[in-house]
Amino acid sequence: MTTLPIRVYGDPVLNQVAQPVEDIDGRVAALAETMIETMYEAPGVGLAANQVGVQRRLFVYDKGDGPVVVVNPVIVETAGEWTYEEGCLSVPGLSWEITRPNAVHLRGYDLDGREIDIDTDEFEGRIFQHEMDHLDGVLLVERLDDEQRRAARKLLRQQRMRLAPGDPDGLARLLGE
Ligand code: ZN
Repeated sequence: MTTLPIRVYGDPVLNQVAQPVEDIDGRVAALAETMIETMYEAPGVGLAANQVGVQRRLFVYDKGDGPVVVVNPVIVETAGEWTYEEGCLSVPGLSWEITRPNAVHLRGYDLDGREIDIDTDEFEGRIFQHEMDHLDGVLLVERLDDEQRRAARKLLRQQRMRLAPGDPDGLARLLGE
């Protein structure tokens, strides 16, 4: 089994916009396989390529019925609103109630270059929006409201940052403290 280290907050790769995959070739398939193994080992339900340091637009996920790879995903439409407790492998150990659109229409490509077209909502829709944020360089902590930010700062002061021992104030800075 091959896995890659998951980048955590403070790593600039997480704040950069990933570039489109130009050719869906064997290298992309190998990367996707490694990402799936990394996701399962974590464990998590979704992983974007830039979380393992690759600035390309693809993510993998498993909502409970097997791994799926989506290359060059695009959210074409969203509707409604849903609040759900959301965590992130790049901000380990923390989670917040976040409100986002509920229904999501996603398009992209599979590893054979066939078009993927999924209309979904709730949990799967949340995964799509979370992973799309990653590909656009947006971390979960940037989705917090003011009250959540205050609580997060307090929590982080208490924890004195087990997340990134070399950069104890990194998340506090990211949160605008
Ligand atoms: Zn994440």
